[in-house]
Amino acid sequence: MVKSNEVIAGGMNSKEGAESSLFPTYARYPISLVKGEGSWLWDDKGNKYLDFMCGIAVTNLGHAPVKVKEKLKAQLDELWHVSNLFQIPGQEKAASLLTENTCADAVFFCNSGAEANEAAIKLARRYHQKVKGSNRYEIITFTQSFHGRTLATLTATGQDKVKEGFLPLPAGFKSVPLHDLPALEAAIGENTAAIMMEMVQAEGGIYPVEPEFMKAVSELCSKHGLLLIVDEVQTGMGRTGKLFAHEHYGIEPDIFTVAKGLGSGFPVGAMLGKGYLRDAFTAGSHGSTFGGTPLATAAVTATIETILEEQAPQRAAESGLYLMERLKAELEGHSFVKGVRGLGLLVGIECEAPVGDIVLAGQKNGLLFITAGPNVIRLLPNLLVTKEEIDQAVSILVKLIHEHSAVEQV
Ligand SMILES: *Cc1c(COP(=O)(O)O)cnc(C)c1O
Repeated sequence: MVKSNEVIAGGMNSKEGAESSLFPTYARYPISLVKGEGSWLWDDKGNKYLDFMCGIAVTNLGHAPVKVKEKLKAQLDELWHVSNLFQIPGQEKAASLLTENTCADAVFFCNSGAEANEAAIKLARRYHQKVKGSNRYEIITFTQSFHGRTLATLTATGQDKVKEGFLPLPAGFKSVPLHDLPALEAAIGENTAAIMMEMVQAEGGIYPVEPEFMKAVSELCSKHGLLLIVDEVQTGMGRTGKLFAHEHYGIEPDIFTVAKGLGSGFPVGAMLGKGYLRDAFTAGSHGSTFGGTPLATAAVTATIETILEEQAPQRAAESGLYLMERLKAELEGHSFVKGVRGLGLLVGIECEAPVGDIVLAGQKNGLLFITAGPNVIRLLPNLLVTKEEIDQAVSILVKLIHEHSAVEQV
């Protein structure tokens, strides 16, 4: 019997103090951002930053885009949450905007990229096992990919660092090197259910998939009856110059996932699929308490409407070309720079050595950006970024890279 005033320690120690009440899961920069508008952010000391990371491809329309803000404010006055046990007209509306503008027929709303990918994995297995009556379960992914942090999605991720200390991992995943067709063919077996991939490996270092390889993957899926799952969590919502990056490749995935840019900063994710997959996700097979609330789907609807009205994908395509041209003109042949690559406004500058210090120097010079792997600078401005803002960012970056490589040579 536990007496009411007695506390049983669950672990090894009593409560301890620390500087922060948060788990130290992030290596945070010493900057507190307190306000954002368009391409600009301000910290609590009044410093102003040009935002070329967008909360990692989230605020694709810039900070506080007017239409999304107005729609969310109006929805706040009406209704925030109802259970998915009821009809949710706002969710239907957001879903139909997604299906009208993509190759998908049906949408499942959730709250993050990992959850969207988790739903995709579950749907692929259930389609084979319940609809096709086979035992297929295995998902083939690619090394250097990133698919999320839940147990299934970190297992799908082709990078060992996210798996350390989390054994045992769920069964049924295999990774092969990107662009290695013989390895992919050899990995396909009687238990294979799906191939899951990004169109541009983003976290892995900004590697766009070769069109020829994509065509071959698509053909292998048809030949072996596999589902093709495309993870568009980072590449989706106009980022690469099309609403979804798979449109560049002339393919139609059976399933694709979206999250980061879907709500302009309101947390929401979605899994989209072809109509023939409906039979696999029947009532009770999958669900989410928060998935697709009136508030979240108001953000989705306003985001998609703004993307379409502003022709954000076309602008991202043009701005991306301009950004890459400017970077190439200024940096190609520079001893510290190996190359510039990307698709639309998902751009990487591969360098000869780690670039963490350049990111810090950027912050001191009023420019925010991130890395993609140790040696790659990743640039993710918002899709409505102006030419002047791109020029400003490029001139800061060029200065930083020159200064940094001068230091490296000493
Ligand atoms: C960020 C990301 C995820 C994970 O999204 P979360 O919302 O952090 O769960 C999955 N896949 C890709 C390609 C991503 O970039």
